[in-house]
Amino acid sequence: MSLKNLGISENLYKRLTGIVKSGNIMHAYIFESSFGLDKEELATEFAKAILCENPQDGDACDGCRACRRAENENNENIIFAEVSDKGSVKDEAIEKLQENLKRKPLEGDRKVAVIPGGDTLTARAQNRLLKTLEEPQGNAVIIILADNVENLLKTIRSRCVIFRISDYSAARGAEMADLAQEIAEMMISGAPTYRIFKMTEDILPDRGKVVELMDALELVYRDLLVSRSPKSRLYKRQYIYSAVDILEEAKHSILSSSGVNAGYALKNALLRIGG
Ligand SMILES: [Zn+2]
Repeated sequence: MSLKNLGISENLYKRLTGIVKSGNIMHAYIFESSFGLDKEELATEFAKAILCENPQDGDACDGCRACRRAENENNENIIFAEVSDKGSVKDEAIEKLQENLKRKPLEGDRKVAVIPGGDTLTARAQNRLLKTLEEPQGNAVIIILADNVENLLKTIRSRCVIFRISDYSAARGAEMADLAQEIAEMMISGAPTYRIFKMTEDILPDRGKVVELMDALELVYRDLLVSRSPKSRLYKRQYIYSAVDILEEAKHSILSSSGVNAGYALKNALLRIGG
């Protein structure tokens, strides 16, 4: 796996590999995306490209020792902050990360730390993180992943290079878009609930995919607002607005620290949209 295989847009690919090629690697980045993108995977591939011993045009070679270790998830220079059972990143997790970054890498000259769920960081954790951003350790690179960068303190944002990723169009995203389209149509035509639920069966156990589907559904509805197709006339604007609200609320309940079960949240949202 490398950045090339992720199905990200050409533009994003060029920007990320351009950073590695130039060697002008900053201390901190934020990847913001709320649309069906596996940010952790993206961060891992970016980290791999940064740590690769023999980068190919700014992308990971996938053959060197650093790459192979990363692929086996045992590259010690790629560190993920611990996410609690409830899906949040706690102050202690940041503290642990900081301790790790203070130690020199055993091999290579750089560590890359990834902080998933940037939106879930408490104020205390963010203030702790801020110290590291203000006094970076050696060559360390920190990548913060967030659905919405506005959930991070301004002082954190101002010290990071922010990537707002909204142009994700990977095959997987397209598949999810098709499913969302189908579900939206079934709902408006009053298909029985059990049949709609059945469509989502495969993705229910996967929290990431459930959120991805909700994003895709939101896009379907938002498109309907601007579309003039005969199909769109079936939908009342109020129905669409309330569907988007319900989906936003459901996503929030999944991603927030209260950590509602994703499958339950999806079903509940579909029921509410169905009215
Ligand atoms: Zn490599």
